[in-house]
Amino acid sequence: MALKDFINQFTQDVKEVAKSVTDKASDTIEITKLSAKISSEEATIAGLLKELGSAVLAKVESGEIKDEVAEDLVNKINNSKNLISVLEGKIQEIKDNAAAKAEEAKEAVEEKAEDVKEAVEDKVEDVKEAVADAVEPVVEEKATKVCPLCGVEVEADAKVCPVCGYEFE
Ligand SMILES: [Zn+2]
Repeated sequence: MALKDFINQFTQDVKEVAKSVTDKASDTIEITKLSAKISSEEATIAGLLKELGSAVLAKVESGEIKDEVAEDLVNKINNSKNLISVLEGKIQEIKDNAAAKAEEAKEAVEEKAEDVKEAVEDKVEDVKEAVADAVEPVVEEKATKVCPLCGVEVEADAKVCPVCGYEFE
């Protein structure tokens, strides 16, 4: 009956492996839950440390706490705060410069626009004069008279009508 024993043992082994797999899955879920709780507590500690830091900072600055390590950390914090002020000042300087440059550019453009407007007005005046000069000879009307016979318009000094041959007196 060695084979039957073997099969029984094998079946038992398979069952145990299956149970072990199931246990592993539920272990993983449990570990995940516990890890989440640990993370939550760590976040709580971080928040409290921040509060503790602010409280200690105030007491060190007021002289209520005299401690070399705390004083050194407060000095480092103040150095960083001063550096932040300097950096913010630089940002403001850049913004102010940019605003001033924009204003300068705007004024330059306005000045240029005024120059262009004046130049165009001068040019328009020149063109008007040139047109007036060119048109003047045309505008100068030639004296004419109307032939009493055929009614055509002929030059004032014409002796004979070029159309009908009428002789002017
Ligand atoms: Zn005529």
